[in-house]
Amino acid sequence: MQYVSTRDGRPRRERLEFEEILLRGLAPDGGLYVPVQWPSLSAVEWRGWRGRPYTEIAAGLVGRFSGSALTAARLDQIVAETYAAFDDERVAPLREFSPGLYLLELFHGPTLAFKDYALQLLGRLLDEVLRRRGSRVTIVGATSGDTGAAAIEAIRGRGTADIFILYPEGRISEIQRRQMTTIAAPNVHALGIRGSFDDCQDLVKAMFADTPFRIAHNLSAVNSINWARIMAQTVYYATAALALGAPDQRVSFVVPTGNFGNVYAAHVARRMGLPIADLVIATNRNDILARFFNDGAMSLGVVTPSLSPSMDIQVASNFERLFYELKDCDANAVADAMARFRNTGAMPVTAAEWRDAKRLFTAYSFDDDATLAEIARTWRASQVMLDPHSAVGVAAARAHRAIAGKAPIVSLATAHPAKFPDAIERAIGVRPKLPPRLADLLERPERLLSLPNSVAAVEDYIRSHARPLREVAA
Ligand SMILES: *Cc1c(COP(=O)(O)O)cnc(C)c1O
Repeated sequence: MQYVSTRDGRPRRERLEFEEILLRGLAPDGGLYVPVQWPSLSAVEWRGWRGRPYTEIAAGLVGRFSGSALTAARLDQIVAETYAAFDDERVAPLREFSPGLYLLELFHGPTLAFKDYALQLLGRLLDEVLRRRGSRVTIVGATSGDTGAAAIEAIRGRGTADIFILYPEGRISEIQRRQMTTIAAPNVHALGIRGSFDDCQDLVKAMFADTPFRIAHNLSAVNSINWARIMAQTVYYATAALALGAPDQRVSFVVPTGNFGNVYAAHVARRMGLPIADLVIATNRNDILARFFNDGAMSLGVVTPSLSPSMDIQVASNFERLFYELKDCDANAVADAMARFRNTGAMPVTAAEWRDAKRLFTAYSFDDDATLAEIARTWRASQVMLDPHSAVGVAAARAHRAIAGKAPIVSLATAHPAKFPDAIERAIGVRPKLPPRLADLLERPERLLSLPNSVAAVEDYIRSHARPLREVAA
């Protein structure tokens, strides 16, 4: 399997192997890596996975993307190790909470959000490849709350990487912050930035664009632009659809969406032949994506803090991968459009491209009041506690069911309710308890750091705190 950058429009564009894009994350031209063609599975192949364990399906799907980077036996081992630490043996259990409506629980990893499903694997894959090469990287990433904790948890204590995570100070929950600032590992750094998540993401992009800095520190990204994350996230769409009768039954998915990574992974699964009926995007009042799919215009607004902070995003980075498809893989047109988007705040999308996009996705948005109402409603009707992100999804699932066909609807529960106890308590008067492994989180000592929204300040910090690259991997 080979990959190209969404912005590499040269006549002889660079084609890279999986191992290389795993290490690079973001392309040097600012583009995102995508496979040259979609691996495709037949109905017989999908059917053969019915009833098989999560790890077996994960190894099967990941193997289609990783090519010769790993032997099948080694991949099986890594995948088994990755999901063994999850606290439910089904890894991503499905539960019917109302007739025809299912919740796909994606909060059984170490940091209680769906990002563990990809990052626990990504951390191990990186470690494997870096050890083999005798090399080290400096990981920098921006987080709107959950990515950072999941990335840190995936990288902590590894000799092959240092990790610096930028988060918007005061805009993530206390639990999310503490999951990052209480990790006492010499290779882990959580940096509070006085700005929004988009500011953090811009800082990361600026560091990647600073070539001498990028080379000096061997920068790597683990945020949702790394292809390996998309790849790992295709797995639970497959296990859920298979459990509900795919490939002989079509299944719809509702995905609480921020950076467009998770729902894009569902799109990839569909491109691989998984019979997905509808793909529904659920956003909070930061609704740039919902406005695009409903009205055809993608124009930047300001980020408004909400009860679902991991979706408080205006620039949905992974949208570029879909945009590349809408442009028929014309990377020059993508590079052009992205430059214009950056300069004007409006994405130039033609009417035809919008119609194509609308055929693939449906979108809804709900504000904080609707989120609280949905938490209360689902609690009363089904005794299921939804975190605010999952509640935005369930609200969209109910709205969609009113107009959709008969396919079962699976709504993704992207975080454990205990990550957002204030919102839950406000909605239902009950404070959710942290699971045993995090029970003492509020008592653990924190290491807090606050930096201005400035590339120079962040680069200085990294320069003075990254371990020298020559230091031998432990
Ligand atoms: C990151 C996150 C999202 C949004 O996922 P994207 O891949 O950015 O669309 C939704 N819910 C939770 C709990 C998250 O952590």
